[in-house]
Amino acid sequence: MLRYQHLIGGQPHGSDRWLEVADPARGVGYAEVADGTAADVDAAVAAASQAFPEWSGWSSERRARCLERLADAIEARLDDFAHAEARDGGKPYALARDAEIPRAIANLRFFAHAATQFASECHHGQAGLNYTLRLPLGVVATISPWNLPLYLFTWKIAPALAAGNTVVAKPSEITPATATMLGELLQDAGFPDGVLNIVHGRGAVVGEALVAHPQVRAISFTGSTAVGRRIAAIAAPMLKKLSLELGGKNATLVFADSDWEAQLDTIVRSTFQNSGQICLCGSRLLVERSIWHRFRDALVARVGELVPGDPMDPDARMGPLVSQAHFDKVMAAMTRARDEGARVLCGGHALDRPGWFVAPTLLEGLDADTATNREEIFGPVATLQPFDDDAHALALANASDYGLAASVWTRDLARAHRFAAELRVGIVWINSWLVRDLRTPFGGTGQSGVGREGGFEAMRFFTEAKNVSLPFG
Ligand code: NAP
Repeated sequence: MLRYQHLIGGQPHGSDRWLEVADPARGVGYAEVADGTAADVDAAVAAASQAFPEWSGWSSERRARCLERLADAIEARLDDFAHAEARDGGKPYALARDAEIPRAIANLRFFAHAATQFASECHHGQAGLNYTLRLPLGVVATISPWNLPLYLFTWKIAPALAAGNTVVAKPSEITPATATMLGELLQDAGFPDGVLNIVHGRGAVVGEALVAHPQVRAISFTGSTAVGRRIAAIAAPMLKKLSLELGGKNATLVFADSDWEAQLDTIVRSTFQNSGQICLCGSRLLVERSIWHRFRDALVARVGELVPGDPMDPDARMGPLVSQAHFDKVMAAMTRARDEGARVLCGGHALDRPGWFVAPTLLEGLDADTATNREEIFGPVATLQPFDDDAHALALANASDYGLAASVWTRDLARAHRFAAELRVGIVWINSWLVRDLRTPFGGTGQSGVGREGGFEAMRFFTEAKNVSLPFG
């Protein structure tokens, strides 16, 4: 059986214990992944510490060339990477090939360039000359989830490495394939051994050992709010730098004056892409009452065309959920929604086939304060609520402890900008969704996290600022 091993000090590293890796479209195991231990974390941190002086001493151009060669190597194997991700994540192969793996490649290239463009501040005049050194931190940890496996893995390791740190990375045990494949390309791309180490295994074991390791200077985490809290509880007393990108319960605000008929495909995508397993998907559709019936019926009809299928089928637009545990969680959320009085407009059930397929589901009739409207489901399940005016729309949108993203659909730009300012979220899309400029700050407020990724925000996170003062005269 295929086995995904750790990468420690440039060498594949096996394990006495292995965890099953499942194919979500069939609901059966197809591989095994090393079930890492605290000892594996110690070995990886030691390798990263040993590699740090050399790597941090290289020029940023030299480090950037390694990242560029790694991006080229992944691009040369785009199909293999897309297949691997479709198999262990259950995401449509076309989505992986056309969007997510290319984005992982873009992450590596983007931060290769960022490394060469990153500049420090200089203050001149009030106290002579002050300039700021931006120094790498040392060994840093990255912990990433299963929903966008390579995309989020590279989003973290690329700025960390570009800034001169060495890294111990923990991908999700549920989707270990593409991170392992990336590890196999490092040597040929010119990375010295130990610069990037990959330790697989369970979050509660490997993840916590990494977070608590005294030599790990910073942790960049993307995942659930519950685990983010746990990580903060361990790392904060140790005064480690922390970046936490957590869950969301995003609102999609559709106004009567919008071009919603022409934009319906994008609105459907913003709700159900990757079976709703994207932190940025809208899961609360807020619709102006004057178009409520027309919008709802058109949406239900369009969602009805979304038939989940085998992720390997090049025409599949939607696949299964990622795991049995996640399938159970989403099914329980639908039961709870019914108990809360939801009317099911479409979906609401699993598909009668092997694997963890759930029909895309739309619900109505739930107040803003129900658990269904407040708690993240992270599946192909969204609610619809009508609103009467701008104030009502804003109140509904902000009725959430989360604060990751929102999309606003209107032709009234003054209204759009007012909402952009007043929505309590980190990212607002106007008449669009998931359009990303990698230079922009990325992250959420409230229960959606602490800190920002993206562009120089990430470069700043992965460096320590040191001011140097040189008085005149
Ligand atoms: P998760 O359960 O929090 O796991 C995320 C990562 O943390 C995995 O690698 C996991 O390992 C590890 N982990 C689990 N327990 C840990 C612990 N005690 N200490 C250290 N690490 C630990 O999240 P998920 O279910 O994989 O991902 C879905 C969540 O991620 C959703 O809430 C979604 O909104 C969020 N997300 C947020 C963003 C964003 O940018 N804000 C982006 C994508 C996803 P194992 O898998 O081995 O348990």
